[in-house]
Amino acid sequence: MTSVFTRIVRGELPAFKLYEDDLTLAFLDINPAARGHTLVIAKPELPGLLDLPPELVAATALTTQRVARAIVTALQPDGFNIIQNNGAAAGQVVFHFHIHIIPRWEGDRSVKLWRPGSATTDDLRAVADEIIAHIQE
Ligand code: AMP
Repeated sequence: MTSVFTRIVRGELPAFKLYEDDLTLAFLDINPAARGHTLVIAKPELPGLLDLPPELVAATALTTQRVARAIVTALQPDGFNIIQNNGAAAGQVVFHFHIHIIPRWEGDRSVKLWRPGSATTDDLRAVADEIIAHIQE
């Protein structure tokens, strides 16, 4: 099924577009967590980070930095979050790769994504070993 973001790329749905190039598009989130909340998408309709070829990983990262710079200059937030959800369990709703840029101000109502937990040195070593075994060049 055609994603809502593909329909924006095609011009079939409106969006407040901020930046566009051959591979990426940045536009305002329609339900912003903060003023200036922006989405950076890969134009090809691929669901998540692991589906992207290297050139799209690079292109979306570069567009994210470019647009974040403009947001910081224009809106002067105290900081910003970069969030990228993969899978419904992680909160992904639109299964077309996108990166959220969310400007943050001291004392704003948005919350941190996680609460700090705890782990023993053995826990950390075990999970590190599990992941390292699967790191690919
Ligand atoms: P995610 O939970 O990471 O999949 O986030 C999807 C985001 O897309 C949400 O923050 C929505 O508000 C946003 N969104 C959905 N439809 C549109 C649209 N037509 N224009 C702009 N943003 C949208």
